[in-house]
Amino acid sequence: MHLEANSNIHLEVLITKKEILYGLLANPAYHSLSPIIQNTAFKKAQINAHYLSFEIDPKDLEKSIKGLVALKAGGFNLSTPFKDKIIPYLDQIDPIAKQLESVNTVKIEGSNLKGYSTDGDGFWQSADLLPRETTVILGTGGAARAIMANAFKYGVKELAVFNRQSPMWQEKSEIVSNLSQTKLHDLSDREELTYYLKKADLIINATTVGMNSNNYSLLAKYEIALIKKTAVVYDIIYEQKSPLLQKSASIGLKTIDGIPMLIHQGALSFKIWTGVDADIEEMTSAIKKLIL
Ligand code: NAP
Repeated sequence: MHLEANSNIHLEVLITKKEILYGLLANPAYHSLSPIIQNTAFKKAQINAHYLSFEIDPKDLEKSIKGLVALKAGGFNLSTPFKDKIIPYLDQIDPIAKQLESVNTVKIEGSNLKGYSTDGDGFWQSADLLPRETTVILGTGGAARAIMANAFKYGVKELAVFNRQSPMWQEKSEIVSNLSQTKLHDLSDREELTYYLKKADLIINATTVGMNSNNYSLLAKYEIALIKKTAVVYDIIYEQKSPLLQKSASIGLKTIDGIPMLIHQGALSFKIWTGVDADIEEMTSAIKKLIL
């Protein structure tokens, strides 16, 4: 077969240049938008690397990590249900990730694994231009904890965290107090909730409520109507516009979905792995092309 001179050069580059593997370990994983944003960032930065989603059985976590190390992968992300399960396999852990007991990014150097959490910084960097003096967070799960632990560092002056009652209430109260020096409020105390909704500049839904396509939101329409017109309602769910955002937008409130947080936390993982700033605009437009 005859190859043009240019094709030969191209072929040689493809065959000889080492491509570094990155990936996501999660279950489920194949719905994830992370491959789109990371591969866009690698391409833009001209880094010869490829990012894949791996939907692994929880019992195979250790084997999967060993496999990635053997393949000389550069690093990987973790999502549900592995953010805490990864910790025993790490050689080093960043102090914030240790405090949160949650790791979403691992950098591999030789056989050394170092874990980080980029969810909190990613959220607040995505909210750069938003008001936040009084902030309400709904939820105390992994994402909510990362957001509350970083809130004061990013200019929040007053924070109110709400969660539903459960047998784990005391433990959750202690976690909230340790991470953010605030008291945990009961979501069923609607008087207290109403007080903070009227006062809030930023309301964040960091629960899973609204993820499925039912019509359920934690705030009723009359409660949403109490929110100041200058406030912003941010729902970190990114799969679709949640019922909370739909109701808030219908009465003219400014709303943000979880895509900006997804992109910013991914950009921070990218920086940890490569030392290079990811192109946020390029990542955003890649996602927009996909979902519009
Ligand atoms: P998680 O650890 O499982 O926490 C879930 C939270 O939702 C808990 O506070 C839980 O309360 C609360 N919750 C669940 N069902 C509820 C109900 N019926 N009523 C009231 N509260 C309820 O989950 P996560 O990892 O923090 O994730 C939370 C959401 O954030 C998910 O939708 C996830 O996709 C999204 N997320 C987005 C990004 C992004 O980049 N945009 C990043 C991370 C996560 P209990 O403690 O009482 O169970």
